[in-house]
Amino acid sequence: MKVVSACLAGIKCNYEGKSKPCQQVIDMVARGEAIAVCPEQLGGLPTPRVPSEIVGERVINQAGQDVTKEFIRGSKEALKISIDNGCNEAILKSKSPACGSGKIHDGTFTDTLIDGDGVFAKMLKERGIKVITEKDL
Ligand code: SF4
Repeated sequence: MKVVSACLAGIKCNYEGKSKPCQQVIDMVARGEAIAVCPEQLGGLPTPRVPSEIVGERVINQAGQDVTKEFIRGSKEALKISIDNGCNEAILKSKSPACGSGKIHDGTFTDTLIDGDGVFAKMLKERGIKVITEKDL
């Protein structure tokens, strides 16, 4: 079983209230091979919402509010769902502060990328779950 970012599965859950549909991911969910989660929504953040980026150890939104607690809460919940469903691989949305893997925005909201993982992707990797992004498909 795989866990996938809900926005890749066609769910309109991103900060703009839009999806980022990826046909291969949509097909996996339809075949029952993957489950979709949105860590930001699971953390109680509204949709649409102010975009956030990782700044050091914190997650800060573009209005300057610290949303680290919500990101950690939602990522822990998504991790529990992943483990409970026996997921051993994740396909997550690239560059997201929750789901990004390998590259994330640098915290300046200037579309600049740095090496790093989103909060949920990092938790999955720490549990030994392989993480790729839609760009790796
Ligand atoms: S938290 Fe992940 S699943 Fe939710 S909108 Fe952001 S990238 Fe998509």
